[in-house]
Amino acid sequence: MHILLATTNQGKLAELRQIIGGLALKVVGLRDCESTEEIEIAPTFAENALLKARYYHRLRGLPVIADDSGLEVDALAGAPGVRSARYAGPDSSDADRVSRLLAEMKDVPPECRRARFVCAAAIAWGGGEKVFLGEVAGVITSSPRGQNGFGFDPVFFYEGLGKTFAQLTQSEKAEVSHRGRAFRRLGAWLNESRVLDTLRSGDRIVTTAD
Ligand code: IMP
Repeated sequence: MHILLATTNQGKLAELRQIIGGLALKVVGLRDCESTEEIEIAPTFAENALLKARYYHRLRGLPVIADDSGLEVDALAGAPGVRSARYAGPDSSDADRVSRLLAEMKDVPPECRRARFVCAAAIAWGGGEKVFLGEVAGVITSSPRGQNGFGFDPVFFYEGLGKTFAQLTQSEKAEVSHRGRAFRRLGAWLNESRVLDTLRSGDRIVTTAD
């Protein structure tokens, strides 16, 4: 059985391959021209993930798994939130978004720098749709640390391991991350429900996680 992971982000593809690898599904990525950017318009991660899952389910006539994720910072009233990817403008880089975040946070004292990553993982198939959430809490550092991961990882300090997400190995991050938690919940549900049997009987799964 195949999974098409609709992301052009190689870091995310690698993470999701690791997280859902246990389900014996072959994971392939999206082509560059298949970006799902324009689909994200809803105010919550869950709605955005469902919109993407429905969109690809309609488009391809196949079962679809999709995710949406981002960073919520308490001192910024939950921003950048669902706008995380566009936080420093439409064509900005990870470095631009990190710089903007650190600039906005420059006067925020250490005790007020709490934040969380949130991920919604949705599935839409012929028989219905379902969404699972995962969260991880941390603290925004005053400067970037670490070379691994992507996005806001270098400034997201995870107290449980005493490191930023960019200082974790891929498997350490998958163990504790919002995406790991949401996708493991989805994976556990898939294993327990009869949906996987139905899908194995003929349908392929297409997964989107842009
Ligand atoms: P997406 O819309 O789910 O692709 O994610 C939106 C944005 O949230 C990304 O471009 C990153 O800036 C941020 N983000 C989501 N997950 C992570 C993560 O695991 N590490 C760092 N940044 C993340």
